[in-house]
Amino acid sequence: MWNPATGEQQSEVELATIEEVDAAVQAARAAFPAWRATSLSRRSEVLFHFRELVDANRKELASILTAEHGKVTSDALGEVARALENVEFACGIPHLLKGEYSEQASTGVDVYSIRQPLGVVAGITPFNFPVMVPVWMFANALACGNAFVLKPSEKDPSASLLLAELLKAAGLPDGLFNVVHGDKEAVDRILEHPDIDAVSFVGSTPIARHIYETATRHGKRVQALGGAKNHMVVLPDADIEGAADAAVSAGYGSSGERCMAVSVLVAVGESADPLIAAIKARVPSVRVGPGSDADSEMGPLISPDHLKKVSSYIDRGQQEGATVVVDGRRASVPSDGFFLGVSLLDDVTPDMDVYRDEIFGPVLSVVRVDTFDAALQLVNDNPYGNGAAIFTRDGGAARRFQFECQAGMVGINVPIPVPVGYYSFGGWKASLFGDTHMYGPEGVRFYTRTKVVTSRWPDPATSSVDLGFPRTR
Ligand code: NAD
Repeated sequence: MWNPATGEQQSEVELATIEEVDAAVQAARAAFPAWRATSLSRRSEVLFHFRELVDANRKELASILTAEHGKVTSDALGEVARALENVEFACGIPHLLKGEYSEQASTGVDVYSIRQPLGVVAGITPFNFPVMVPVWMFANALACGNAFVLKPSEKDPSASLLLAELLKAAGLPDGLFNVVHGDKEAVDRILEHPDIDAVSFVGSTPIARHIYETATRHGKRVQALGGAKNHMVVLPDADIEGAADAAVSAGYGSSGERCMAVSVLVAVGESADPLIAAIKARVPSVRVGPGSDADSEMGPLISPDHLKKVSSYIDRGQQEGATVVVDGRRASVPSDGFFLGVSLLDDVTPDMDVYRDEIFGPVLSVVRVDTFDAALQLVNDNPYGNGAAIFTRDGGAARRFQFECQAGMVGINVPIPVPVGYYSFGGWKASLFGDTHMYGPEGVRFYTRTKVVTSRWPDPATSSVDLGFPRTR
């Protein structure tokens, strides 16, 4: 495992064998029945306690994120804060698991629904949010009464171990939360394991597709969130300075390694020149440096390979006919580590690789279009559908965008519309395989099965024992 800020190897990750994955699943299976039978108030109490422990360990978790992922401290603390929202939501599990009840559906017959846990569920998570994305999954999964097996990214795996310790300290019984470090071998065992009932995945689109196809073939319930190419549409009436601020923070924040990062700016009509000028003016103030340095606003990329890949898109864009307004390779950045300055490409068109591929780095592409309709068409023609944003002062235009755009999360004058913890997170099209979004109410639905009970009790007046009711026979 790298230290992305120094370029040095900092440790080695021992990858789980198939036998180790099996042992984790077995421990989870053994712990499940007692946890399933544990009262809602006790499960909720464990989550409340976990919330307090995560809160008390914010800095510790953030420093692990900075050391292994490279993100700056403010970003790392923000990630922990968003994870806390998901724990807080799951604390309300007694309310969230309430079923429905229809009295007297037929004479003397009542019908009601209850939600029951699935059993053993697994989570496979990406490198870019090593605290938040696992919490998206396991907070609800455990609250619903399941046992959990986490396979975190092998690129920055340590935060998951601290989360496991905090769950144990919060009173979660042994066997209910298991971490297996691994790569494809461990993942493929999870996908086919007969004792795993459901799989939650977050990562790139090709792997999400593989996870969905393989795990569903093995009879599992699957939600697999994939990659993204998020567009931010700027209309000519928008607050251009505000839009430029938003584009810089949403395009370059966390080095562009966010699935909700803005990757394409769609400049409509006359907005393009002032918008590009305003972004260009802000670029020199984006301080690139080690995440642990309080002055840094953007840290390194995750690995040397990723640095090479992201850098190559700047040349590729130029070869394809884009104009390189800002070249991140020329920025003054620390020479050690996997640092890259921010880049801005203008005159990008939809047939270019820089437009089509998810670059996942600090490279913003500007596509110029003449009209709102052309902007909407561009967003909707893109195979991904994670997030999309519009910047405008026109309520009618914003409403039409919200109504017609093909994306799971939409921002109106908000560049990164990540839903709060009491909604659910997920994209459309190639950004999601399966039909359930993550965390919030959809998370509760994913981690439970509904059972509908139809009941008829004999009229007490017909009982063979005299209960004091008037006898009917
Ligand atoms: P990735 O797809 O390479 O890896 C994700 C997980 O899959 C890791 O745990 C990894 O070990 C495992 N994996 C990798 N290759 C595998 C293979 N061949 N077979 C089985 N398992 C494999 O993703 P990443 O690089 O860690 O994360 C970045 C990607 O995640 C980006 O595409 C980003 O958009 C996406 N992402 C999406 C969301 C979302 O909510 N839609 C959120 C965060 C990240």
